[in-house]
Amino acid sequence: MTLFVTGGAGFIGSAVVRRAIAEGRKTVVFDALAYAANLDNLAAVADDSNYRFIRGDIRDAASVRDAFAETRPTAIMHLAAESHVDRSIDGPGAFIETNVVGTYVLLQETRRYFEALSEEERGAFRFHHISTDEVYGSLGPTGKFREDTPYQPNSPYSASKASSDFLVRAWGETYGLPVVTTNCSNNYGPCQFPEKLIPVVILNALEGKPIPVYGAGENVRDWLYVEDHAEALLLVLGKGRLGETYNIGGDEERRNVDLVRTICTIMDDLTPAADGKPYADLITFVTDRPGHDARYAIDATKIRRELGWSPAMSLDDGLRRTVAWYLENRGWWEAIRRRGFSGDRLGLKTG
Ligand code: NAD
Repeated sequence: MTLFVTGGAGFIGSAVVRRAIAEGRKTVVFDALAYAANLDNLAAVADDSNYRFIRGDIRDAASVRDAFAETRPTAIMHLAAESHVDRSIDGPGAFIETNVVGTYVLLQETRRYFEALSEEERGAFRFHHISTDEVYGSLGPTGKFREDTPYQPNSPYSASKASSDFLVRAWGETYGLPVVTTNCSNNYGPCQFPEKLIPVVILNALEGKPIPVYGAGENVRDWLYVEDHAEALLLVLGKGRLGETYNIGGDEERRNVDLVRTICTIMDDLTPAADGKPYADLITFVTDRPGHDARYAIDATKIRRELGWSPAMSLDDGLRRTVAWYLENRGWWEAIRRRGFSGDRLGLKTG
């Protein structure tokens, strides 16, 4: 078995790769090394004989074709994407190029490769597409997203992911590609690029900068620890039913403002501020994100029932671990800061 992981140098992809290698699987990372990629995320497995890295772009058919020919994958896990909603507001073009066109190119090359396999190899082959719950739009105060919830994407990011989900579905239905799709809630944990909410809060607090909370902080998200997600993905890859989609969530809903306050309290405990003040004093309410979805919540009954998966990490424990990781791995994020990523506000429709 050879896993081929697109976007394997990113936040979630690298967690999947670390886990796959720990399980003894042959794993190829195919990644363009765009701004959010980080080979440091893969340092722990870089010397493993089962690990191979190929720098390549999913939009480039020839590089995908060559990589397939060289590595002969038995399964593709597709995580390569532009992933930040705020960036999609400033520059939607890159999201259409990578998430929609790139997925199309990857599907076409996978199809070409798949059709040349033996019948037995085709029987074992899988294309696993990793997507988001944001495709379902926004919830009111009650209810949860199920696999049959109608798609209603509201941001350029979620629209591009919804498009990619539909392409994957169509390549399964029309061309018989053995596909499975997962839609998950907001991930957090080690190695998340410091432009997403949780690392922004931790690093701004450490640097004594204002901690931005969009709008009144009332938006609700369902948080999933990245390593629980990686476990679920490898389970779906192995045991998920073809042509199906599975929702993956942490069952840990929290209002943004409450989440931020919890992180501040953990930081007060683990690394008290030099001036003795609580980090929560740095919380600053800023202009809301345009089209900000009010609430996301995942009903993960299907994956629970069919595959027996449930998240192991509570949000409070996961946040504590995450804060500890950023404290212990200053070099990881200081290098990103030196590359000019300051964590400053994006996505105000000024682009
Ligand atoms: P990330 O931004 O950390 O990583 C994306 C990776 O894709 C990077 O390594 C980047 O170099 C690579 N990439 C980008 N464009 C590429 C291209 N054209 N060719 C090859 N590689 C390319 O993202 P993430 O947070 O790890 O998300 C991974 C996947 O999971 C994405 O598909 C995202 O939509 C989905 N997802 C993420 C979350 C979340 O909370 N982070 C939630 C739901 C779904």
